[in-house]
Amino acid sequence: MRTLPLATRSLSGLVLPQRCGGCGDALPPAVPDPWCVHCRDRSGPVAGGWPAGRDGCAGWAAAIYRGPVRRGILAAKRGGPQAATALLLRRLPPDLAPPGSIVTWVPGHPLRTVGAPDAGRALATAVAVRAGLPLRPLLRRSPLGRRQAGRSDLERCAEPHRLGLSARPVPHGTSVVVVDDVRTTGTTLDHAAELLRAAGAAEVVAVVVAAAPSSLDR
Ligand SMILES: [Zn+2]
Repeated sequence: MRTLPLATRSLSGLVLPQRCGGCGDALPPAVPDPWCVHCRDRSGPVAGGWPAGRDGCAGWAAAIYRGPVRRGILAAKRGGPQAATALLLRRLPPDLAPPGSIVTWVPGHPLRTVGAPDAGRALATAVAVRAGLPLRPLLRRSPLGRRQAGRSDLERCAEPHRLGLSARPVPHGTSVVVVDDVRTTGTTLDHAAELLRAAGAAEVVAVVVAAAPSSLDR
């Protein structure tokens, strides 16, 4: 039963956080939100939505990818406090997607997620539960695909098919919510939406914790 303490720890991290997701400072017990007052103030207003653009994927971001929000997301990627999830849920719009939508996520690179949590999956699970929508692994990622981390915006925009993403069949006419932690250039989410539409999705909308400021203008 080696998984039980881990699961218990991540659950208590969500419900009774002990550390601020932005700065790592200790928090008083039983605070409902894993952010200290300072980092919460600096996490900024809701970033809002972005339009689909040509062949792209419209979506919504809970915050701008900078400061404590950025640190919280990077910490969650490393298996730290799930403060990014709490931030997303706190700001999630109630009319996220039409009834009957399916929630899915952009899988992390298989080599990155060996022995580490898949940040997108954890976020999508929380969103699905909150929205009362089913969660399905509609996207796959080949271990032969390219990793995005450490690449420049220009490199990310080029050749998205080299990410190694593919979509499983989607029930025809279903709307899909794709959850990810960060939208940097939008290339990955646009490509995921294209694959999901080709697999049968009627409409694809993205939900992310944070978007790079520049990506909201595109
Ligand atoms: Zn803090």
